[in-house]
Amino acid sequence: MPVKNQAAYGPGWKEFSRRIRFERDGGRCACTGQCRLSFAVGVHDGEEERCHATHGSSTASGGRVVLTVAHLCHDASCRDETHVKAMCQRCHLAYDRELHSRNASATARRKRLARAPMLPGLADAGTEALPSLALAPGGADGDRQ
Ligand SMILES: [Zn+2]
Ligand SMILES: [Zn+2]
Ligand SMILES: [Zn+2]
Repeated sequence: MPVKNQAAYGPGWKEFSRRIRFERDGGRCACTGQCRLSFAVGVHDGEEERCHATHGSSTASGGRVVLTVAHLCHDASCRDETHVKAMCQRCHLAYDRELHSRNASATARRKRLARAPMLPGLADAGTEALPSLALAPGGADGDRQ
């Protein structure tokens, strides 16, 4: 949510954002497919095609295009012009969603990897440890009954 993050962007953000959106990127979404929205949904004509949305033009749903600045480096306080792109709200939203789902699967992958080296050891110990746990009197299982 842009409003919530405004403070995190820090001083000078407004001017920086304006320059990127309206001077460098000419008031037009500069997304060239980073959002992964395909031509099928009418945002990009092709793989590398720049988005057609211009600031203030009307959207398919009857609203207005609002250009935002997306950080490709994912650091909202960054002021490196090569790390940012003007993006329409549609591309930006999709870009963030894409990023979040990638992060989620990367986290899951890291967790699996962290557990992986222990698996052979657990499998060996498991055959012996499990029966003795089941036989232990007054175990945790007893409290549930
Ligand atoms: Zn950066
Ligand atoms: Zn766009
Ligand atoms: Zn896009």
